[in-house]
Amino acid sequence: MRLTEQQEAEIAAAQAARSTTARPTVAALEAMLFQALPALDHGFVRVIDYMGDDAAIVQAARVSYGRGTRRVSEDAGLIRYLMRHRHSTPFEMCEIKYHVKLPIFVARQWIRHRTANVNEYSARYSILDREFYLPAPEQLAAQSAVNRQGRGDVLTGDEAAHVLDLLREDATRTYDHYAEMLNEDATGAARDPARQGLARELARMNLTLNTYTQWYWKIDLYNLFHFLSLRADAHAQYEIRVYAEAMLRTVEAWVPVACQAFRDYRLGAVTLSAQMLTVVRRMLAGEAVQQPDSGLNRREWAELMAALDRP
Ligand SMILES: Cc1cc2nc3c(=O)[nH]c(=O)nc-3n(C[C@H](O)[C@H](O)[C@H](O)COP(=O)(O)OP(=O)(O)OC[C@H]3O[C@@H](n4cnc5c(N)ncnc54)[C@H](O)[C@@H]3O)c2cc1C
Repeated sequence: MRLTEQQEAEIAAAQAARSTTARPTVAALEAMLFQALPALDHGFVRVIDYMGDDAAIVQAARVSYGRGTRRVSEDAGLIRYLMRHRHSTPFEMCEIKYHVKLPIFVARQWIRHRTANVNEYSARYSILDREFYLPAPEQLAAQSAVNRQGRGDVLTGDEAAHVLDLLREDATRTYDHYAEMLNEDATGAARDPARQGLARELARMNLTLNTYTQWYWKIDLYNLFHFLSLRADAHAQYEIRVYAEAMLRTVEAWVPVACQAFRDYRLGAVTLSAQMLTVVRRMLAGEAVQQPDSGLNRREWAELMAALDRP
């Protein structure tokens, strides 16, 4: 990830600015404000603003006049109770705003999360940067043989080199055509004065999906946890997972108690169906349960055995 000198100067100026506020702030997140956390080869995620903290969750849950906090252990216990029992609205009292730079194919997965406010860079109005995502060699995997939505072994040797060449050549060629159709140089002047140039809103249509876009994305903590539970999960595609993991670090700094509760009761937890629970009870009673007489289909059985760390 490279930022221009001007972008770095703008971030430094934002970090140096100070405002006086009576609102609660969180020192650990203040230290990360505006900083671009790298993701993929040219992407990043950075916190632009936030509202609330762990205490705001407690305060809303107790509908308090003041800060509403009691002993640290009592507050943590309440937050963990709320998370465990899937209460939503106290967590919705906290909000965070990110600036994200991401490949278009990752943005397509991300935008399916409808509970955020989004404002995307306009490629009708502006010209997209000449930046494409090219996977690192260790991410250049074959199609999984067992999971139609997953990856298998990493490609190696000539095949890997050929795939990377194709990705680079296609992205470069379509970007060159984009620039040619626009007929504009970096200053906005016509490259060829004899041509009018195609409108930006049309010229963009043949760009490859690994071209980077950017957006501001604002969401409340409850829905952010939902997003992270799906996108920081091992089943999520690697390319969106790296963003989710970077965001998880910001949430850790912002609301450490709620984040730990999320890790314990959501991210690291497993939901058992009624049939699965029956199987676990039978196993605990000493019965040697097998899949055919478990009441579970093969896939459910495999998932339960994986969760219980059994072969
Ligand atoms: C591993 C993985 C694979 C996927 N594969 C596919 C795929 O093959 N094809 C595909 O199309 N999508 C796929 N998706 C996207 C998925 O189906 C969801 O669209 C996406 O994860 C957003 O989830 P969400 O709707 O719960 O989130 P959000 O939109 O953030 O909504 C959060 C919650 O708010 C509620 N909500 C929001 N809007 C409404 C509404 N209009 N009506 C009712 N309730 C609402 C729901 O309870 C929802 O769970 C995949 C997602 C993952 C994580």
